[in-house]
Amino acid sequence: MHDGVQAQVPVLYVADADAARRFYEAFGYSEQRSGGEGESRWSYLQCGELTMLLAAVQPRLVTVELPLLIYLYVGDLAATLQRLTDAGHPVERAGYPEHAPGGECRTADPDGNVVVFGQRRVVPEQARVEQPGGEARFSLIREAAEAVSRRGGAPAHCQIGGPRGEACPEPAEVKLADSWGDTVWGCLAHADEALLNARGAFLATEDGMGLGPFLQLHQAHPDRAAQG
Ligand SMILES: [Zn+2]
Repeated sequence: MHDGVQAQVPVLYVADADAARRFYEAFGYSEQRSGGEGESRWSYLQCGELTMLLAAVQPRLVTVELPLLIYLYVGDLAATLQRLTDAGHPVERAGYPEHAPGGECRTADPDGNVVVFGQRRVVPEQARVEQPGGEARFSLIREAAEAVSRRGGAPAHCQIGGPRGEACPEPAEVKLADSWGDTVWGCLAHADEALLNARGAFLATEDGMGLGPFLQLHQAHPDRAAQG
């Protein structure tokens, strides 16, 4: 027995619990329990020790498209890709990032939730499948970098640098932060490395939901005070 979390159950809100269940069954999940009334249904899925709850509620929740909703590591990416294609789901190969040296691909479930599959088992260089265009690799880091470049404001060069203190000549493309408030700008490769190795580091994004907009509402505005 340990005191920490012993299991976690992601909850996906879906329009049609049966259609979503069929999608996730293709990757080894099977329904353990289901229930609900009328158009509000739920289905509790399990695959080995992993569980997932599909919930269809009426009226439908307003959901927003996210670059990634669920990341699933699979034992055999090629087989997964085949299964998705056979079931009529468009799949995009997404390269061989450090966290998935056996390859990565992305698709969407019947609700449009973006599901990314990765394989941890390394695929040797010569057995890798070439990416059309070479740069098709999907990653949260790349998307963050694109958001930064649209907005501007990044310093000229990566501030992270190499493992022995050597300066990095690559352009700074993403901003990383931790919960204490330390921040650093890095190139894609060094940001990737920092995210994997620095405990609690995360991609800093300006999405209008952070502390800045919150504080703006809570702190005194001289003009408002004058009107009051
Ligand atoms: Zn760098």
